[in-house]
This record gives sequence, C-alpha cells and structure tokens, in this order.
Amino acid sequence: MAFVIIKPKRDKALQRKHPWVFSGALAQKKGNPAAGDTVDIVSAKGEWLGRGAYSPKSQIAVRLWTFSEDEPVDEAFFRRRLERAIVNRRELKKRCHLNACRLVNAESDGLPGLIIDQYDRFLVCQFLTVGVHAWKDVIVQQLQDLVAPEGIFERSDSPVLDKEGLPRTVGRLAGHEPPETIEIREGDFRFLVDVRNGHKTGFYLDQRDNRHQATHYAADGDVLNCFCYTGGFGVAAMAGGARTVTNIDVSVASLDLARQNMVLNNLNSERVDYLQADVFKQLRYFRDAARDFDVIILDPPKFADSKQQLDRASRGYKDINLLAVKLLRAGGYLFTFSCSGLMEPALFQKIVADAALDAGRDAQIIGRMGQAADHPTSLTFPEGHYLKGLLCRVW
Ligand code: SAH
Repeated sequence: MAFVIIKPKRDKALQRKHPWVFSGALAQKKGNPAAGDTVDIVSAKGEWLGRGAYSPKSQIAVRLWTFSEDEPVDEAFFRRRLERAIVNRRELKKRCHLNACRLVNAESDGLPGLIIDQYDRFLVCQFLTVGVHAWKDVIVQQLQDLVAPEGIFERSDSPVLDKEGLPRTVGRLAGHEPPETIEIREGDFRFLVDVRNGHKTGFYLDQRDNRHQATHYAADGDVLNCFCYTGGFGVAAMAGGARTVTNIDVSVASLDLARQNMVLNNLNSERVDYLQADVFKQLRYFRDAARDFDVIILDPPKFADSKQQLDRASRGYKDINLLAVKLLRAGGYLFTFSCSGLMEPALFQKIVADAALDAGRDAQIIGRMGQAADHPTSLTFPEGHYLKGLLCRVW
C-alpha cells in the first residue's frame, strides 16, 4: 500500500485522532498514490499513525478512515461504519416519530466526506471527497442492503467539490427516481421536501429541535421568520399558537413550498404573510415603518466559507441582529443562528451582544441551540459543530 510520511512534530492532531492531515504536514509520499487511494500515514520516526484517503488537489491531503492498524479499508469496513451510523439513529427516529433523518454525518460518523439523509423511503447522498467518491458503488450497494430504500438519489453539487477536483453530480443512483416532493414526518409536523432542487439534500433537518423550541415561545405573538426557506419555523410558530407569522425569503420556489407546508399542517394560512424580499432591506423597511414583533427568527445562509470572509460575515450578522433587536417588543424573543462553522460560538455571541448594545436594548440568553442529534459532532472533530443558535429575551 502507498504511504505518506508526516513532517516531524506535525503528528499531534493525529495522535488525538483528528481525521485530517493538511498538505503542508506531508514530508513525503511513497508508492505514487492516486486521488482517492487508501494510504497509510507514518510519522517521521516511522510509527504507524493511521490510514486514510489521499486527495492530491485538496489542502486536506488525507482524510482518515481508521486509527487501527489491523483494520483494512474494504467493503466490510464500509458495511460496519454505515451499519453503526444507521443503527445509532433508530432510537431517535422512533422516539421523535421521524421518517426523515441524517443517517450518516461524515467525519463525525467515521466516514469523511459522506452525507446520507433519509426522506421517508428515499435516501439522498452527497459524496464530497475523492475518498468517498472512490467507494461510491460499494456504499450504494451497502445502503440498498441495509435500508432497502425505494430509491437512492445523489446531490453531490456543493462548491466544496471544486476543492477536491470532483465534478458536480446530481441524479439517480439506484431504485426509483424520487417524486417531485417527498412528504416527511417530524413528530406532529409534516413537510414537503424537494430533494432535486432544494438546499443541501432538500431540507434543514439540523434545525429540528430548534423548530420545536420555537413552538413554545410563539403563543399569541407576531412572529417574523427571516430566511424562512420552506417555512419550517413558520409552521412551528403557527402550531404554537402564533397570532401572525411573516415568512421572508428571496426564493419564490421556497416561499411556494412554505405555503404548501402550512396547508399540509392544517394551519390557518390567512394569518401568514409570505414576502419575497431581501431580509437586509426588509428589516430596514420594517424599522422605518415602525413595525414590531414578539418573536424574530434569523436563520441566514452560511455567510463565511473561508477565514478571509469572516470579517464580512461578522458585519452581516451584526447588521441583521441589530435590526432584529430593534424590531422586538419588550420581552420579545430572538432566535438567532449562524451555520458558518468558521464562526466561533464566542465570536457569534459577542456580535449579538454588540448588536443589542448598539440597539440600546438589554438582552439575556435564555437558551443555546445547536444541530439536532442526528448531526453528531465527534469529540475528535470539533469542526463538525457548525450550527450555533442563541435564544435571547430582549427588553
Ligand atoms: N430557516 C430555514 C433555512 C434557511 S436557509 C429552515 O429552517 O428551513 C437560508 C435561506 O435564506 C434560503 O432559503 C435562501 O433562499 C434565503 N436567503 C439567502 N439570502 C437571503 C436574503 N438576503 N434575503 C432573504 N432570503 C435570503
């Protein structure tokens, strides 16, 4: 087997079982590995450190499959990892009455680069690194054996594929084509998911617990749901007894599904507004019109893809949070999120604190939110924790 040798003193992260080796840490490679090949990783002193997938184009040159020297990376390996991830979700699915769930969460399930989401009888996959790309056929076969879905669909169309030198690929991998929308069940809620054109694999499964949290704060309130996508938080707020919900998104297609989702949940659509608008502009418009709300949800898209974008992202978060805090009635609730993994929780909290200060309002954190349990974070891979939310009471 080909192998790579790590520069002296660059093995600390691997000793702590962090699953990435950066290209700058490589001293030598032996045996001419190709993209996606399995390589052993050896320290400068010759100790065996791990085994992973080689990715020559990426800054992350090797992603670890295993830290056990006697564990080969073969079909049985993928079978074990997939089975463990899938079995680990069973209890959650049952307890929360879900038929949609993330089954495999990449590095945090020991399968770097692989995302598998289940939407009722369909699986939607993302193969985001050359490592998992090389094992695609095996993985698809194993999924058929383990889950027996009606169809498996690929949504490998994330910009991160460019860094791996992989083409974007969307289409059926096995079984039937998924329907235009798939109806999923999340406790008492139902949602329609467009797995072909929707964001990520179609739905924000990671916000499940936070949606439910929103039901508890919405009673009799006027709720503003910014960046609503297909209206998950809006449905939760209406189900929680909101007086009105205002859903805002730039995407007409998303708003259209949001409308359908409200109907699907038998909620009174007459009390719901759907605004196709830029949130940054609409919040200013509301401020100038002296509109106010009892609950505001801010769940923007990822503002930072790289460290260079962090400053600009921070200004974006500050801007919307400042405007939102101003629009809240005394005692109102702000659900504010950042899904940029690069935005540290402490910095995000400081931005929200600065926003409240500049708005001249007092605010308390009454809850901290994160991604749902089917999006675990391995303790050896803190980067896996990307979704942060603060629930603030504003005075
Ligand atoms: N809260 C949603 C997920 C939000 S995803 C949920 O729980 O399902 C982010 C959404 O923001 C996308 O639907 C995208 O269309 C929208 N968006 C991005 N930039 C926007 C802007 N400037 N103004 C309004 N909507 C925006």
